Amino acid sequence: MLALVALGVALLAATALPYVGFLALYAWVRPSGSPAAKRPSEPTVSVVLPTYNEARIVENKLRDLVALDYPMEKVEIVVVDSSTDETPDLVESFFADRDAPASTLIREGDRRGLARALNDGYAAAENEIIVKTDCDARLAPDALREAMANFADPAVDGVTGRNAEVLGGSEVETDYRGIQSHIQTLESHLDSTFIFHGPFSAFRREAVVPIDPGSLADDSELALRIRRNGGRVVFDPAVAYMEAAHSAFAKRRKQKDRRAMGLVRLLVQQRDALGRHGRYGRVVLPFNWLFMLVSPWLLATGLAALVLGAVTTAGVAGLALPAALLAFVAAGSRDVLGPFQPFYALFDAQVSLLSAAVRLPLTST
Ligand code: GDP
Repeated sequence: MLALVALGVALLAATALPYVGFLALYAWVRPSGSPAAKRPSEPTVSVVLPTYNEARIVENKLRDLVALDYPMEKVEIVVVDSSTDETPDLVESFFADRDAPASTLIREGDRRGLARALNDGYAAAENEIIVKTDCDARLAPDALREAMANFADPAVDGVTGRNAEVLGGSEVETDYRGIQSHIQTLESHLDSTFIFHGPFSAFRREAVVPIDPGSLADDSELALRIRRNGGRVVFDPAVAYMEAAHSAFAKRRKQKDRRAMGLVRLLVQQRDALGRHGRYGRVVLPFNWLFMLVSPWLLATGLAALVLGAVTTAGVAGLALPAALLAFVAAGSRDVLGPFQPFYALFDAQVSLLSAAVRLPLTST
């Protein structure tokens, strides 16, 4: 049964191939920073903030927004709210005696889902650039300024930023974001990036189109649609934000699984973009397909073959292998894993992607 072990090892090695390919391409292209021709620029900005029962943090969020290093006369804040708590009242009183920035509060009445709320918020926004941000994310003071410098490049229609710090102390999440930041820099230099982040996404208003009301990956879907319409959407690591990620295992899994599900569904729904739209369809999307849809299955079958092979080859002693693997999964902490932590972060992401792929047929429309 050594053949099974060999098959397992081969499949696991294949799992790493997209990442190894990425490293090789990265070394060749040597991308750094945003690929846009950045110049200081101060377009008018509509910040769209969706809120659902955020009474605890909404005032802090608004305070952070109005304190950003940007002329507030050029900013409008559009809050789209579907809360059952006092969030909308807090928003209203926050802006009651403030001249700038201008504000609009859309009270939705019923909760109709984030994608619908965003479509309404984007439709109501009046300024040149639309910035979408989440309530539980904090933007760096110069985030808006850095992002707007990208729009001085007429080819750029969308900009997303880097998670500089994961609030809540999740080490796995911090490491994963580090890897993701490199991937997105390379994608942006090749053409455009696939994933847009909820804490900070900016779009040229005239490029914005409605997204699928059932979307679970709203920001990435809008970016993808804009790229498909001929725009360029880039990642700029100089645009920094801090996002709250849950460090409690169950909560983190739930948040990560939902995101994975949104992205996997988006890739499948938009599969006809593969091979089209320049390097975006020829390199960026295939890489994301490999990483998000193919690798998780290779990982699952590889692990199963390896464990089965070890047990059938070495009997009870073979159980040491699955035990070691389990210990690896359970560890998940920098103290224990040291330099192997990034591999754990990748593994962790693959587990979410696998669980998304398994549930996909049940949720597809
Ligand atoms: P996560 O960051 O991906 O875990 O998503 P969240 O649940 O934190 O939601 C992101 C932002 O959208 C937050 O500011 C929420 O308050 C807001 N939000 C979530 N669901 C809804 C909704 O159904 N309607 C509206 N208007 N806002 C929502």
